[in-house]
Amino acid sequence: MNIRYVSTLHCCHRNVYIYPAVNMEHLLNYLLHLPLWAVWSIFLSENIMITFAVLLIGKYFYKGEYTAGEWGICAVTNVLNTVVTYAGFWMWKHHIIHITTDISWKIIPDFLSLFMAMDLLMFVFHITIHKTFLYKAVHRLHHGSVDPKPIDLFVLHPIEAIGFGGLWLLLLVVYPFNMYAILMYLTINVVFGLAGHLGVEPLPAKMRSLPMIKYLGTSTFHHNHHQDIQYNFGFYTSIWDRLFRTYK
Ligand SMILES: [Zn+2]
Ligand SMILES: [Zn+2]
Repeated sequence: MNIRYVSTLHCCHRNVYIYPAVNMEHLLNYLLHLPLWAVWSIFLSENIMITFAVLLIGKYFYKGEYTAGEWGICAVTNVLNTVVTYAGFWMWKHHIIHITTDISWKIIPDFLSLFMAMDLLMFVFHITIHKTFLYKAVHRLHHGSVDPKPIDLFVLHPIEAIGFGGLWLLLLVVYPFNMYAILMYLTINVVFGLAGHLGVEPLPAKMRSLPMIKYLGTSTFHHNHHQDIQYNFGFYTSIWDRLFRTYK
């Protein structure tokens, strides 16, 4: 068996426990044996499906139409996200990124680490592109919308799309995260991205003041960033903004 990542197949020989891990390994190894065009096609389709899922759910909240320009930038972002996906695959294939595939309690701390680490990295990246020449050159495009709408999640300058993707790959290089934690994180990332650009707040005010939710990046949180670019640079949480006094 071609095991290119830290595997825990040794941990248990009972089939009931190793089957899911084997399935994920099979899936990853299957990709290794596909021709290049097929791998690119799978990754591009995956990104396009995520985009359409976001826009379909977003349609429920935002009834307006998107311009041809927005569709064009959205298409370019999809291609760039596919490049990032392939870069991650290539780095895993060449042992630069290691991934574990076991189903264990480790999935939870791995997910929380990805969630918090990416929140901090993206906060730093976001505040940097706001406070330097990069705002006019790069990030202003995303801020074309003062009232964000779902497609704005993909209305990004190419440098920004690659920058966020680069941070993600960098994090995967430094630690062998669990594959299921990665999938959970990627799903949650899309949910937060969609929430931030819904244009409306689906959560009632009472719910938003609950102890845990209070510190999460809600629709209102990112909407307020589009309304006033001096505040709310975080994405998943408001922790860093509260800490650096940029919370509104
Ligand atoms: Zn911004
Ligand atoms: Zn935004």
